[in-house]
Amino acid sequence: MTTSAAVPTGPEDAIAGDGAVTDRLVEANQQYAAAFSDPGMDAHPVLHVAVVACMDARLDLHAALGLELGDCHTIRNAGGVVTDDVIRSLTISQRALGTRSVVLIHHTNCGLESLTEDFRHELEMEVGQRPAWAVESFRDVEQDVRQSMQRVRTSPFLLHTGDVRGFVFDVRTGLLREVDPA
Ligand SMILES: [Zn+2]
Repeated sequence: MTTSAAVPTGPEDAIAGDGAVTDRLVEANQQYAAAFSDPGMDAHPVLHVAVVACMDARLDLHAALGLELGDCHTIRNAGGVVTDDVIRSLTISQRALGTRSVVLIHHTNCGLESLTEDFRHELEMEVGQRPAWAVESFRDVEQDVRQSMQRVRTSPFLLHTGDVRGFVFDVRTGLLREVDPA
């Protein structure tokens, strides 16, 4: 991609890492705050649910699940994978903030499907340091949801592991498909 860097091609160039996109977000926040009134809620999610999902930009969790402000905890990372850090958040969510249900959402066409664990090796070659974390790439999205459900269910830190359900969100139709845990 050496040629495209020299030739400005479109609106992307205006928001390419020079802080302009952040300025746009800050401006949008000022409008949001102008219309905002204190909902008077505490930090306990109203629906007592924590949703663990991929960070994918095409997945609008609140809209897709009919969620309102204050309804749930949302814990997101690349893949929606249940890592130690997700367990950390779920543990705090359940033990300090009263959630009891866990919903896991992966999705079709995930960026992690095109990566392999070679990513770590290539990173090490480039920067001279091996990352402590696994890439957690996968080929079979349903199997990855099953593994994530299993990691939640078997965690010794969680109080509530009886209501753990996993889904694949279709980025083309907007529909969730539930994954059989078996
Ligand atoms: Zn994804």
